[in-house]
Formats: sequence, C-alpha cells, structure tokens
Amino acid sequence: MTAIPVTIGRRPLLSPAAGGAAVPAARAGMDAFASGHAPAGDAPTGIGAPLIDTHGRVHRDLRISLTDRCSLRCTYCMPEQGNEWLARTSILTLDEIERIARLAAADGITTFRLTGGEPLLRTDIVEVVRRLAAITGPAGAPVEIAMTTNGIRLPELLPGLIEAGLNRLNISIDTLRRDRFHELTRRDRLDDVLEGIAAAAASALRPLKLNAVAMRDVNDDELVDLVEFAIAHDAQMRFIEQMPLDAGHTWDRSRMVTQDEILAALAERWTLAPVPGRGGAPAARWTLDGGPHSVGVIASVTAPFCGDCDRLRLTADGQLRNCLFSTTEYDVLPILRDGRGDEAVDAGIDGMLRSCVRGKLPGHAINDPSFLQPARGMNAIGG
Ligand code: SF4
Repeated sequence: MTAIPVTIGRRPLLSPAAGGAAVPAARAGMDAFASGHAPAGDAPTGIGAPLIDTHGRVHRDLRISLTDRCSLRCTYCMPEQGNEWLARTSILTLDEIERIARLAAADGITTFRLTGGEPLLRTDIVEVVRRLAAITGPAGAPVEIAMTTNGIRLPELLPGLIEAGLNRLNISIDTLRRDRFHELTRRDRLDDVLEGIAAAAASALRPLKLNAVAMRDVNDDELVDLVEFAIAHDAQMRFIEQMPLDAGHTWDRSRMVTQDEILAALAERWTLAPVPGRGGAPAARWTLDGGPHSVGVIASVTAPFCGDCDRLRLTADGQLRNCLFSTTEYDVLPILRDGRGDEAVDAGIDGMLRSCVRGKLPGHAINDPSFLQPARGMNAIGG
C-alpha cells in the first residue's frame, strides 16, 4: 500500500505507508548514483535505498525548516502582522526531527540545511545541530550540517553551534543601508545582522555565503556594494531572483531583477567568468577578475536548474515537500504520533520519503500559464 499524497490544506488525515525490505541490494547500489542521476529503470526501495525520482535525480540534500516564525518581517516574505503561525503542537520535536533525519541519511541524504522562518529562534537549536551532526550515512560518512539564517543571534550562539557540529552558514542581507533595511524588514536591526556577519567572518566556517534577493528600484543600486562587502568579510555574495513565494501572493515578474541584469551591473566593475561544474547547486557562479573571489546567482525564474535538483524539504509541522514550489505535501506527523510500533514508524517515514520523491515534477513551471503559487508562504517552507 503506498502513501496517499494530499494537495496542500491544513492538517489532513492520512493512511500510513509501507516501505520495501531490499536493504542490502539497495545500500550496495548507492555508489552507482555518484553522478546525481540514476540510470533509467525501477528505483530500489526500502530503508537504505537511494531516493531517486522518476526523472533519475538522486536526492542528497534535505532542507529542514525548524520554525515558521522569524525576528524580521521581510516584505517579500510575509505581511507586517506576520502570518497565522503553525500550531505549537504541530511543530516537530527534536526526537522526531532526528528520527526523520536518520532515515533520510540511511537513504543517501548527505546534507541537512537548517532553515526557518529563522532557525536561531528555536530554543534547542544547538541540540538540533548536535543530534544531526552525529548522524552518519550508509558508508559511515558524517553528514554535513548547513544553516540559512538572518544572522541576528549569531554572536551569542555561533561558538556553541560550531562546537555542536555546524559546517556551513548562509546569511541573508539584502541591503547595507539602515533606512532601507528598516523599510524592507520592518525592523530596525541592521546592526544586529552586521554583528552576526562579523562573527561568522571571524569563525573558521568556510565557505561563508551571503544571500540577497535582488529587487527592482529597491536594492538593485547596491549590487556592487554588496559584493564588495562580502569580499571584505571573506564571503561569497549570492543574488536571488525574487520568486513567487510571498505569503501575500503579490509577486510581480516586472519587479524581479533578472540574472542577466545582475551580471550586467557587476560587469561594470569586474571581469566575470563562469565557474564550470555546478552540479545540483542552486547558484551558478562567476569569478571576479579571474578570482579568487566569485559571485553567485540563483536564477530560479529566468534560468531554472531543476534538471539537477537533489533537494527535498521538511516543514516545521512535518510535511515533506519535493520542491520549493510544490502544491502537494506528504505528512509524516500522523506516522510519528499515532502510536504504531518503531518498525512501522520507520517503514512509514521511509515510504513517505519515497512517495514524495516519486511525485516530484520535472521542474517548477513558474514560466507556465498553469503555474499555481503554493498556499504555504516562504517562511513556512524554508529556503
Ligand atoms: S524549483 Fe523545485 S525542482 Fe526546481 S530546483 Fe527548486 S526545488 Fe528543485
């Protein structure tokens, strides 16, 4: 019996999933997918088998949204008053997150990226990192722990996060101007973000990445300044094309600054050269004046990269999503909480991971007239 995916709604009822049992063969086959794509044919199943979708993509990256709450109110993400927050009772516990992550790692996931809302608002964040960093993959290799944050609590938490096993950091900063920051985030907290970036720059975590959403007539006059700021902090600047993921559903393509426009603006200051070998990474990269510094652009709208996507997402309330823009979710919360036995829980979660992957579309269809923006806002999906 397979899991029944549901189109997004609030907390549907679900029938449980049953995973296959071909563990040894599946595990043995894991290395055959090093390229990120699997040869055509039936994907192996059962705990330990790689997570391959019907387009041959092998999934290695699980993004875990730890909370939908945030200390900022970015205009392109959520309304001033915030959203209808997820019920606290529906938020995954530390043990539940660890359990899902262990099964995902057994199935070939090698990177966990912690997101939100704002992940540093989670009171047990250091323990989350510690538990996940202790997980190893099928061949005993440690998983990688990355985080995307607005940086506000980093000075206080970074030493503990690094000691617990954090490997990589991405910090969001859309502007260096205080007035503009206040306008964009509806909070006067630029200094706190800058202190967070300074703390990260002073740490050993590398590569350090800074993310900015490029917006027309908002911050598109700061692109060069942001790159120079990143270089001064030994970080890589990455610009993101604004995507239709705002809670207010007000996205307007004409307000989006395209990859071509971003590169044209930067080419007035530097000589840009493409960096080959992107793999499944969201950002395409260009060296600046021959290196060593480079800049990245995540052009989901004008230059989609879905063909090599290896990402899955887990929301804070236990929904698996096979794409940032998915309108279908796979609910693992009932599996975790309806009292079934351990083996049934593990098989159920593994089965749901597989159903989620099998249901993955070839791409996001943003440029297609049939495109439907997900009901869930970015703060509740996670980057
Ligand atoms: S839009 Fe979806 S399929 Fe495409 S790269 Fe992003 S998550 Fe992957």
